[in-house]
Amino acid sequence: MESTAVTPRKSIKEIVMEKMRAHRAQSLERKQLKRKRTKSFSCDDDRLVSRAVVLGDDDETMFWEEEEGTVEMAQIGADRTKNVLILMSDTGGGHRASAEAIRDAFRIEFGDEYKVFVKDLFTEHAGWPLNDMERSYKFMVKHVQLWRMAFHGTSPRWIHNIYLAAIASLHTKKVEAGLKKYKPDIIISVHPLMQHIPLWVLQWQNLQKRVVFVTIITDLNTCHPTWFHSDVNRCYCPSEEVAKRAALVGLQPSQIHVSGLPIRPSFCRAILVKDELRKELEMDADLPAVLLMGGGEGMGPVKKTAKALGESLFDKENGKPIGQLVVICGRNKTLSATLSEIPWKIPVKIMGFVTQMEKYMGACDCIITKAGPGTIAEALIRGLPIILNDFIPGQEVGNVPYVVDNGAGVFSKSSKETASLVARWFGPESDVLKKMSENALKLAQPDAVFDIVRDIHELAEQRGPLSQMTHCLTSSFFQSRNSSFISSTS
Ligand code: UDP
Repeated sequence: MESTAVTPRKSIKEIVMEKMRAHRAQSLERKQLKRKRTKSFSCDDDRLVSRAVVLGDDDETMFWEEEEGTVEMAQIGADRTKNVLILMSDTGGGHRASAEAIRDAFRIEFGDEYKVFVKDLFTEHAGWPLNDMERSYKFMVKHVQLWRMAFHGTSPRWIHNIYLAAIASLHTKKVEAGLKKYKPDIIISVHPLMQHIPLWVLQWQNLQKRVVFVTIITDLNTCHPTWFHSDVNRCYCPSEEVAKRAALVGLQPSQIHVSGLPIRPSFCRAILVKDELRKELEMDADLPAVLLMGGGEGMGPVKKTAKALGESLFDKENGKPIGQLVVICGRNKTLSATLSEIPWKIPVKIMGFVTQMEKYMGACDCIITKAGPGTIAEALIRGLPIILNDFIPGQEVGNVPYVVDNGAGVFSKSSKETASLVARWFGPESDVLKKMSENALKLAQPDAVFDIVRDIHELAEQRGPLSQMTHCLTSSFFQSRNSSFISSTS
């Protein structure tokens, strides 16, 4: 039997591209009308004025266009500050932490050469459901069965391609407006849903050769397939396992770069002395300390574990504590309010969302957390043995063997067991704690963030002289019109 079906991928792409073309035709019409009413740009360089006018009269418009009348003439041919747009979303705390790590590393390595914007473009510019991802994510991970279904249900390529194409048909125009606002030379996605629509916009606008687009994966192992897009210039994988997955779905070896997870430079570059940190954070100077947290949202069995630790770290015979506890509740205000009301027998510090996580990790001796990749990678850098007490189904499952099999920690879902293990680590089993700390340090990749930004910088440099010029003179629309300008003036 003869089949006439086209592959879903091709047809989806075609549908989206048709929608985009229709929109582009409409917007061109509007721009042409507007231009007819505008007499000319006011600027000093006559040749460029005439060129701008000739080009402006052409059929196509400039995508990375400057505001009318503000063409960056002074920067032509000179080194200019490049714009880097990092696309993230506050679904959990890890994407923002990675985005900020990259931003800080760009500043440290390249100073004013780059201007970096960390943006949730979907919340800023798109409509529902894209602008509601944070809330939906929070809801779904609270009801883990729902999240498990969503994660695995959307894993087949044809399913997430249909979903993304449907969303793209509604929101591409708005996302395009957001991209235009920041005029990026480099786009970095640190979120699994932020490659497809921006890459469609670049393709549609013929800007793929002009703008560097890279993905930085922020899951250590079992990541969702939407992370992988074949049109990226580079896909930075935090582990060999993720790199294998990238290769399996068809990314070329030249696109895959195994780098480690980008962690904020404050974790790896600052000199942190435990005694001084404890003084600064008003902690007990002598008692060993355990840090308890649950990602950016304060998820997992934090309350139950805190209560169990309150008992296990109190020596009833001698009537004194054998350890102290720091609980970081992240954005979970209910959790911090509840814990603050408990009458503790041991020294306990309860914090909401903290911005200097490296200090709290530096002041403690071990950590209890859900298997969030950001927290794990940070704890490894600080040499903290890890007790994993929970994981989000799907993307965090693989983080458990990553820690346990490398001897940097253990997994325990029981709050009582976790609490008694910490008491043993702070007492008779202190050598186990020491060994795990050494293993954690071996696994840590503190320089990953710098390796990544240097590689992105090289990619941008390879774009050659065109990337040194102002956006409006280098967009592919402009290039295609150069020939018409030359012929019309020669
Ligand atoms: N984090 C923070 N302040 C807080 C709580 C969390 O800076 O009060 C950071 C934490 O250091 C880590 C990230 O949020 O970088 C959490 O990322 P992870 O991947 O562990 O979990 P997620 O929240 O993304 O599920």
